[in-house]
Amino acid sequence: MSVPATSPERFDLVVIGSGPGGEKGAAQAAWFGKRVALVERAPEVGGASVHTGTLPSKTLRETALYLTGFRRRELYGMSLHLDRKKSLRQLVGRLRDVIDRQARQIRRNLDRHGIILYSGEASFPSPGVLRVASAEGPDRLLAADVFLIATGSSPVAPPGIDMRDPDVVDSDRILDLDRVPTSMTVVGGGVIGTEYACLFAALGTRITLVEGRERLLGGVDEELSTGVQLSLERMGAEILLGDAVVSVERVPRRSTNALRLKLKSGTRLQADKVLFSAGRRGNTQTLGLDRIGVSLTERGHIAVDDHFQTSVRNVYAVGDVVGFPGLASTSMEQGRVAMCHAFGIAYKTAMADVLPYGIYSIPEVATVGFSEQELQKKGLPYEVGRARFENSARGQITGDFEGFIKLLFDPATHKLLGAHVLGEHATELIHVPMLVMAAGGAIGVFLDAVFNFPTLSESFKYAAYDGLQRLAQRGASAPSVSAPRRREPTDPATRHWFLGVASTGPLQPERPVIVCQMDRWRRCRISTWSYDPSGSGLLPPEAERDGFVAAITVKAKDASALSDVFLRLGCGILGRGTREETDLVQTRPSQLWEGLKDQKRTARTRPEAVRRRRYEILRAEGLELPLGCEAIREDQLDAAAAAFAGYLWATRQAREEPPWVIPAED
Ligand SMILES: Cc1cc2nc3c(=O)[nH]c(=O)nc-3n(C[C@H](O)[C@H](O)[C@H](O)COP(=O)(O)OP(=O)(O)OC[C@H]3O[C@@H](n4cnc5c(N)ncnc54)[C@H](O)[C@@H]3O)c2cc1C
Repeated sequence: MSVPATSPERFDLVVIGSGPGGEKGAAQAAWFGKRVALVERAPEVGGASVHTGTLPSKTLRETALYLTGFRRRELYGMSLHLDRKKSLRQLVGRLRDVIDRQARQIRRNLDRHGIILYSGEASFPSPGVLRVASAEGPDRLLAADVFLIATGSSPVAPPGIDMRDPDVVDSDRILDLDRVPTSMTVVGGGVIGTEYACLFAALGTRITLVEGRERLLGGVDEELSTGVQLSLERMGAEILLGDAVVSVERVPRRSTNALRLKLKSGTRLQADKVLFSAGRRGNTQTLGLDRIGVSLTERGHIAVDDHFQTSVRNVYAVGDVVGFPGLASTSMEQGRVAMCHAFGIAYKTAMADVLPYGIYSIPEVATVGFSEQELQKKGLPYEVGRARFENSARGQITGDFEGFIKLLFDPATHKLLGAHVLGEHATELIHVPMLVMAAGGAIGVFLDAVFNFPTLSESFKYAAYDGLQRLAQRGASAPSVSAPRRREPTDPATRHWFLGVASTGPLQPERPVIVCQMDRWRRCRISTWSYDPSGSGLLPPEAERDGFVAAITVKAKDASALSDVFLRLGCGILGRGTREETDLVQTRPSQLWEGLKDQKRTARTRPEAVRRRRYEILRAEGLELPLGCEAIREDQLDAAAAAFAGYLWATRQAREEPPWVIPAED
């Protein structure tokens, strides 16, 4: 440390850190006429957001989707070849350009506001004074009425792991990888770990994701985190939950897959590269906070109140250094709110109550307000409304078959309590319900609004309708209609009901047969029908009234007996008439599950694991099952899968006759 050349230079505000929190806080105070200095120790302004976090990861994601043709693969059967030998920085050639532009923009913003930028490491030698230590010259002292600490955070080094190995990286060093890995173990299934796992999986890297908790993206509505997990698994990733990496060793003289990992469970893995993404810690260590009396929380973040004021009256802190939520989006606003409070500016008095969260997994996740699990925990009444993008024109055009919107609202007032979106553009779409929530609005707003067509946004309207329809159906008994059966041939795609019929034992009178009745919103009701060759009591009255497609999934020798029952009821069978005359398709259980992307069952697969996995597959497909994972049986899952198979066939989302749909002659 060199001796300061001059006495302290005086400012109204001195900001430490030029990330989103520091930049916007400085600009806010300067906008209202304050004399502001900003200190940055990195060679360039922008913080983690520009140089190591937000922009690099999002640019890399965009590159991965573009270079691999990922978004269009299923639509056009097109995938592109990737040069895996390129380093990540070469691969993301655009990144340098994006970073430079952003950094220039931030510098311009500082200049425009007359903010003086000091380059060097800031620390407090004593209250009211900041020292700036720079390799380029003597230390400087800056004095101010107000200080704003926006020093961000850094990845926490995992205990006992040698992070000096170039193939073992954290999220700050991931861009230094020398090539696109053939395999990578990602440790940590939080936001950053899941985002990187998805984008490398899209690049064709074999991903193993190890997460200590029982699900990915804890805190996000479970339906969305299950959706992301399944998407990862479909991209070939293996997800190991409830486990942790305890050691990483390098096998000498191996060039690929040279890392050996040991997990807490005893499992051993090998990998080309390892990414640790298990937590970040506030950058406070070198600031000398103890010398000025600023308190930290137990987790090492700077403790602040609602105005971002620390335990020292004229010192404020914002952004990652104060902990949750640790987002560029919130850091910026925290900076502005803090500075309005510090200088008594009657402009921004508090953070907005309603904050959006966006996760750039594949597909994207975005959420605002309460999750379903939070509402359950709080014991608050709620109703759900859903809409799937595959049922919207825009979703069909773009081939978004996974995405959906989920609205949670108060059943009495219809006030919107939470909104959750899975799918491409989720992080944009979420602003629509966010603004409704911010205005304290009810779901009726969606019903009254006119949305552009075709867009994904119009799905908010249909999610609201769905919610209101469920509300109306609550407690209402099933209509006891026994109208005559539909006789006119109709396109199966227009039918209202999809029945899945499953039987495990031999068909004998009185033997239980499971029937799953699914509507077009994929809401399922499961019942047991006592086998009766006459078919009496098999068809739900509303299915008879509105039209249905039934899919039976039984062993081959029982299939014809059950088909005969449907024939007796006047139903048409696939393969014995036109498509329009078809009410019934047959499926084979194992082929059916394979069709739904279940992994092949081997002798080693535990039945419990199979049941859980199948439950999750159906949930991720958007089926609302009346029983939870613990309670539902395998035959009930078979029936639900059959109903869904019938739906896919009827709506032509599966090929005309997929292998798991068997014509009657078979
Ligand atoms: C991989 C990854 C992906 C992310 N994706 C997103 C996303 O999609 N959306 C989103 O909203 N957020 C995202 N984030 C989070 C976002 O980057 C951070 O929340 C945000 O950058 C925090 O801003 P900040 O101003 O608090 O600190 P930072 O951006 O970290 O900036 C802190 C600055 O302070 C400087 N500094 C530190 N100590 C000193 C000192 N003693 N003296 C001088 N200067 C100092 C640092 O050099 C740095 O420039 C992501 C983060 C990561 C790691």
